[in-house]
Formats: sequence, C-alpha cells, structure tokens
Amino acid sequence: MVKVSSWGRLDSHEHDLVPLADRDQAVRAVAGGRGLPQGNARSYGDVCLNPDGRLWRMTGLDRFIAFDPGTGRLRCEAGVLLRDIQRMSIVHGWLLPVTPGTQMITVGGAIANDVHGKNHHVLGSFGDHVLQLRLARTDGRVIDCGPDLEAGWFAATVGGMGLTGVIVEAELQLRRVAGPWLVTDTVPYRNLDEFFQLADTSEAGWEQTVSWVDCLSGIGRGLFFRANLAAIPDRGAESGRKPKRVPFVPPVSLVNGLSLRAFNETYFRANTLKAGYAVAHFEKYTYPLDNLHDWNRMYGPRGFYQYQSVVPRAAGQAAIQAMLAAIKASGQGSFLAVLKTFGDRTSRGMMSFPRPGVTLALDFPNRGAQTAALFERLDAIVRDAGGRIYAAKDARMPRDLFESGYPRLAEFLQYRDPGISSAMSRRLIGS
Ligand SMILES: Cc1cc2nc3c(=O)[nH]c(=O)nc-3n(C[C@H](O)[C@H](O)[C@H](O)COP(=O)(O)OP(=O)(O)OC[C@H]3O[C@@H](n4cnc5c(N)ncnc54)[C@H](O)[C@@H]3O)c2cc1C
Repeated sequence: MVKVSSWGRLDSHEHDLVPLADRDQAVRAVAGGRGLPQGNARSYGDVCLNPDGRLWRMTGLDRFIAFDPGTGRLRCEAGVLLRDIQRMSIVHGWLLPVTPGTQMITVGGAIANDVHGKNHHVLGSFGDHVLQLRLARTDGRVIDCGPDLEAGWFAATVGGMGLTGVIVEAELQLRRVAGPWLVTDTVPYRNLDEFFQLADTSEAGWEQTVSWVDCLSGIGRGLFFRANLAAIPDRGAESGRKPKRVPFVPPVSLVNGLSLRAFNETYFRANTLKAGYAVAHFEKYTYPLDNLHDWNRMYGPRGFYQYQSVVPRAAGQAAIQAMLAAIKASGQGSFLAVLKTFGDRTSRGMMSFPRPGVTLALDFPNRGAQTAALFERLDAIVRDAGGRIYAAKDARMPRDLFESGYPRLAEFLQYRDPGISSAMSRRLIGS
C-alpha cells in the first residue's frame, strides 16, 4: 500500500496502487477486479481516490494508436496526456478543440469529468469531440460506444467519474488551426454589471472568454480575458517557456489574507496597465499554471479546496454577488478566482457539469471549521439558485446538493460498474 493524495493535498490515504502499462493488460486487470481508474490525479478532491482500495493508474497507457493528419482524427490510449497530443498535432495544424486550464491531464480523466475550457460557448465540453471510446468493465465485458453507438453507455461514461468502467482507448476529433498563436485582449471591469455586459458582447466575436474576479474587492471588479486563434507569421512555433517549481511544502499556507490582498491589488493594477491587445502562444496563455510545477504545495501541509459552482443565467448575477459578499464577510479569499459564462448548450454526459449559466471557481486554503462554514453559506446560495457543484473539484459537497444538481443521477446509476467505487461515490451515492 502507498499513500496517494489528489491535487488539493487535503490528506493522503493508503492505496493499493496498480500501474497499468497497455490496453490488453488493463482489460485483464479490470476483469474480476475491484478498484478505481486514476488518470494524472489532477482532480482537486476525492473523485480520483479510493482509500484502502485499489487504484488502476492509467498513465502507462500512453500510446498514440492512429492519427490522420488529413482529417484530424486521433485514436489513442486513455492515459495519454493532453499536452502530448497537442505537441504532436500542432505540427500538423491540429489542436484539441476543448482543454481545461491545465494540459497535464489524461484523455480518460478528461472524458470522465467531461472537462470544459474557455471556449464552452463555441465548442462545448471535451465529450462533444469524442467519436468513440472503449470501456472495460469488471465483469469482463468490453464495450465500444459513441454518440451513435451504444449511446446510453457513452452518455453515462462522459462525465461519469470513472464509475461506469475503465476507458482504455478513445477516438477524438481534433480541430484545424492556423498555428499556435492567439490574439488576446484584456479588459478591466469595475463590477459584475460590466462583467456580464462584456460576456454578452464578447461571445459572438471571441472564441475564448474567461475572467479573473477580485473576490476581496466586494464589488466584483476584475479582468476580462478574450482570445482567438490566429495566423501570425514569423514567430516560430515554440512557447518559449522556462518551467519553475515550488521546491518544498512550506510549514504554513503562503496564501493568507495579507498575501492575497497584496496579490489581488498588484495583479489588477499590473493587468490594467497592460490592458488591450497582445499576441501569445497557446500554451503560455491557456495553461499558465503548468509552468509552475507543484504549485499546489503553496497551500502548506493542510492543502486546499477548490469550490466550483454553476448557476443558471437568470439567477446568475444575484447569486455571484451573494457568493462574493459571503467570501468577503468570511475574511477568506481566493487568488485564483475564475468567473465565466457557459454557452447555451446541453452536455452529452448524464452527469456532465457544464450547463447554461455562469460558473465561479475559487481556491481556498484549508482552515478547517472556518472554511467548512463558508462552504455551507456558498452551498445555500447555489442550492437556492438551482445550481450545481463540479465533482472534479469537490471533496465535501452535501449529498442533497449533489442529487438536486444532477437530475439524471438515477438514470446514470443503471450503468454503474458495481466493482468500481471511489471516496466520492461512497460519500455521495453510498457505495
Ligand atoms: C491547474 C488546474 C486547472 C484545471 N482547470 C480546469 C478547467 O478549466 N476545466 C475543467 O473542467 N477542469 C479543470 N481542472 C480539473 C481537471 O481537468 C480534471 O480534474 C481532470 O478530470 C483531471 O484528469 P486526470 O487525468 O488528472 O484524472 P484524475 O484526476 O486522476 O481522475 C479524474 C476522474 O477520471 C476518472 N478516470 C481517470 N482515468 C480514467 C479512465 N481511463 N477510465 C475511466 N475513468 C477514468 C477517475 O476515476 C476520476 O473519477 C483543472 C485542474 C488543475 C490542476
């Protein structure tokens, strides 16, 4: 048994960690077994943990099976990292249509959480670009499914938190791009009214939209970032990034009231000064935290939570305002505070997180009861607004909020693999 923790480093638990190396071995290991597939453990909470049980570590399934540079169709094993796909495909003029704020995640993890990026209003979520996948079940069955093939299995597995079986390979549709460069625009906003105006007016002309909100300001000021891929000549193809590392776990969180206030003020002012258009490499712009290895250590030995919710647009502004007020009143803040609108699209997955509305994601150092009390206040706002919490980030949502937030839960459970269980499934589903 070895100790394993997830990205939030809230605690570490003993696991029987079984690294898998290829598709055949994976199918054999899963048949008749009990466990949970784990990708690159970039989920913040307990969706990728199975304390005192088995973890099938999927990162050894890292092979490209077939790639057609004419059509952009890629077939690969489920443990391939999104970074490795993009570094291979950009050379041929293709990128993944949808990626989250890190590319250090596996294809299996991207499907199982149906991850979203900054372009949800245009391209939806990761599952929208999966053509087919192969699922290995603990009863020994191997199921090929896609949007038009065994569609029930597909809809349950996209966003299915690894609970329907182990994805061993997938076929993805990449998107044609002119190159690796983005034209970006940064626009400071003074309050939430301005944020929603910017979101509305930017969606038609900008493929990527996202914003940083200063959650200590109380008024919802922030920075709106929008970007489009563009053909920029004479820049070469390299991102020019030199990675840095947080070298050790500090004895206490480096993120506290004082450092947050200073960070937020400096970040807002510095970006206000350089507001306007710029050109950036997609890796540098889209995955800034990938350049600071082990940044999750900054939060010290007690780790941190990410709280990400989505609320319907009609209730959105009042709910976001109420959440920001609750955070300010609690004296706890988040330097990573992302506010973004989702497009008016229905996700393919029964349990997918994205839905039309506005999503707020915040990181909080773990301060025990104080943090738990803040989350209860945020939960009440999300519940009243008819919203939901994102499983990929969660380690503590109450069961009633999970059930109300995911109305297709009963349908999903018909596809559950009884041999697969996680800390999250035991907490929220009871097994
Ligand atoms: C810096 C950072 C930024 C992020 N930004 C975003 C964002 O913008 N949008 C977003 O949506 N998410 C975001 N995330 C969350 C991250 O994208 C998801 O948690 C993702 O699912 C992690 O993938 P993973 O490979 O690390 O899988 P894990 O975290 O190891 O596992 C995630 C889930 O997938 C299941 N799983 C893994 N492999 C398989 C498989 N082969 N078959 C079946 N199930 C499997 C696991 O059981 C688990 O339920 C971010 C995370 C970080 C650290």
